[in-house]
Amino acid sequence: YTAKSSREGVRAYVPDPRGGTGDRLHTMEELRTALEDGGQLAVHLQPQVALEDGRVVGAEALVRWHHPTRGLLSPAELLPAAEQAGLLRPLADAVLELSLAATARWWRERRVPVSVNLSAADVTDLDLPTKVAGALARHGLPAAALTLELVEDTLMADPDRGRVVLGELRRLGVRTSIDDYGTGYSSLAYLRHLPADELKLDRSLTRDVGRDPRAAAIVRHTVALAHDLGLTLVAEGVEDDDTGAVLAGLGCDTAQGYAIARPMPVEAFLEWLRASVPAQL
Ligand code: C2E
Ligand code: MG
Ligand code: MG
Ligand code: MG
Repeated sequence: YTAKSSREGVRAYVPDPRGGTGDRLHTMEELRTALEDGGQLAVHLQPQVALEDGRVVGAEALVRWHHPTRGLLSPAELLPAAEQAGLLRPLADAVLELSLAATARWWRERRVPVSVNLSAADVTDLDLPTKVAGALARHGLPAAALTLELVEDTLMADPDRGRVVLGELRRLGVRTSIDDYGTGYSSLAYLRHLPADELKLDRSLTRDVGRDPRAAAIVRHTVALAHDLGLTLVAEGVEDDDTGAVLAGLGCDTAQGYAIARPMPVEAFLEWLRASVPAQL
């Protein structure tokens, strides 16, 4: 059986088609070991570029698990296991550590901030601002080197506490970003109260702008809304140059996607960054 949290946050138990309870417990145990030993967990980095001139303005850290027998596992496999094992917070600590350690390797050359994804467990963690401040200091990085991404749904569980945590993080100088905007529970009322610097428009809205006038209208108006609220608009999941050009024409500020680069291991990203258009300091 596998635990699935429904939209209402209620847990329903449904049979796991991939295997029995034993397999799952085994995976959870292996994840605990991976978190203790280190080495198996990694972040891959995907650049974010300005549509205007192609300069690199960010890098999103995406967690990967080099599993001893099953190969490279994606967040889709790793995150549910971490949630079931109650290991989301230690996983977040590990990802923050890996992301900032990587960023410290390029920060002096290139002022490119790293974006780290948060789960609901992180946003309701009242210790998160202290942990973040400590991790930044350990790596000799200013708060401006870090952006934290969250989907609006992650705040639903405990919006008041989430707002306290986000407020403290922003007071430190950390940037915040609303991820996957346009999906799930994202609502205009929410945007009004959620402190953020950036809006990431989901691929489900950006991918069809070249052929669907309705998709283009939604993007155009979301860009205007974001800008009126003082938010940078990032287009997610740009897979071809034509789509990137249309999104630029619609006013999107920055873009991320396979057309620019796939997520890469840290060493490959450092090389990619060195070869890219220099950021204006
Ligand atoms: P996300 O934050 O929206 O990240 C973007 C996802 O889209 C990544 O998948 C990325 O590899 C993929 N992607 C990037 N460009 C393209 C493109 O052009 N086309 C398509 N089809 N996909 C593209 P990934 O790495 O599998 O991550 C999936 C999700 O898992 C992320 O979505 C994020 O919500 C979550 N995630 C990843 N890393 C972490 C983490 O360290 N902590 C937490 N809590 N969640 C994470
Ligand atoms: Mg993200
Ligand atoms: Mg996203
Ligand atoms: Mg998305």
